[in-house]
Amino acid sequence: MSETEERPQDGAAGRLCPRCSSDHVRRGGNRTWLIFIALIVLAVAAVVVVHLPAGLVAAALVVLIVVTHLVLGEWTCQDCGAQW
Ligand SMILES: [Zn+2]
Repeated sequence: MSETEERPQDGAAGRLCPRCSSDHVRRGGNRTWLIFIALIVLAVAAVVVVHLPAGLVAAALVVLIVVTHLVLGEWTCQDCGAQW
């Protein structure tokens, strides 16, 4: 049997928590999730209220979520809960 190590899938390898030096970190923090929720609410409003095409809004939403991740660059430690 070979040793298999669980690794985060989103390029977190090599990142360490500044507080506890754990490598169990993942992208995204509270601020990132708040913005995601706001974006989803806006997207639903755009379809329901402004009657924009749902496909277009969904595509824009995906792009905005990726951009938000890249711009904020927030990380969360899964061991001690630190966010930076
Ligand atoms: Zn930590």
